[in-house]
Amino acid sequence: MAKHYIALCAFAAVVAVGDIAVADTLILANGTKIEGKVKDGGDVWVVRSAAGIVSRIPKHEVAGVKYSESMFDQFEKKWRELSVSDRSGDADAWYRLGMFAKKNSLVAEAKRAFKRTLELNVNHADAREALAAYEPRGSGKGGRVGLTWQDTNTRKKQPPVTRRERPAGSGLKFKNWVTCPKCNGTKYEVWLTCHQCDQSPRPGYLFFGNYVTICNRCMGKGKYPGFRCRYCGGHGKIDADNPPKPRERHVPGGYQLCMKCQGTGVETWIPCPQCSRSPWEGLLDMGEYVLLCNRCGGKGKLPGIRCADCKGHGIVPEKR
Ligand SMILES: [Zn+2]
Ligand SMILES: [Zn+2]
Ligand SMILES: [Zn+2]
Ligand SMILES: [Zn+2]
Repeated sequence: MAKHYIALCAFAAVVAVGDIAVADTLILANGTKIEGKVKDGGDVWVVRSAAGIVSRIPKHEVAGVKYSESMFDQFEKKWRELSVSDRSGDADAWYRLGMFAKKNSLVAEAKRAFKRTLELNVNHADAREALAAYEPRGSGKGGRVGLTWQDTNTRKKQPPVTRRERPAGSGLKFKNWVTCPKCNGTKYEVWLTCHQCDQSPRPGYLFFGNYVTICNRCMGKGKYPGFRCRYCGGHGKIDADNPPKPRERHVPGGYQLCMKCQGTGVETWIPCPQCSRSPWEGLLDMGEYVLLCNRCGGKGKLPGIRCADCKGHGIVPEKR
């Protein structure tokens, strides 16, 4: 009885949010059509009609099932409709949409709707409780509500091992981690302005009529990563005692690196014609994203005049 009551409530919530009746259709071998929510019950198809009547039909009697829009599609549709409706500022309306998603096992969607509810009404206890139910036990005090993916990402990361934390005699090389000077620890040397929200009064957020939402493109940052830091390899930290340096070329015995060209074999470089107008050396500005220049391989320059001293080899016979 109690279960039946919950089911009816769910149905009521669906109607209240979307105001549209959606049903799957079961087509029997004799041509009869039965409408309702269709579920696979093993040997039978289980159909629950809008009135709550459950029928179990053996599969051999069924010619086919025509599903209505997926629950996800329905959710997205309801979300769009609610966003532009005059109820878009109504926290309860978003809460009901969240409950619709929850009942249909759309976890991410439910969270999204509950978060929207809390954006509109921080004190919405039901939404807070519903959202907390999704958090892993022990970690959630409701404090994680409203965190962006960057926050959750950084929280999970272990801090780099420092000198003090290493157990003595572990045999491992100590590393003296410092913030990468090139990307300032952001892990990306190029950040692109988010064009979805940069015209908004508050970059990182979007304003729709009477409500504000965090920009889904940049997650509230107003910018998004363009190109991974080449210096630290995207770690955001470098070993101060052993900073990254370009791979040294192998010098065979009896030879030494040409001092005139530093072993490059090139005396004069010319700017790379493909990427010289880009704001970033060796990278191409593609508008929405950034690419490594394939002409110069990211160097930003091309060999011009060959080194006269080493004839372009980069190495010279050792002087005695
Ligand atoms: Zn870096
Ligand atoms: Zn944005
Ligand atoms: Zn040289
Ligand atoms: Zn180039």
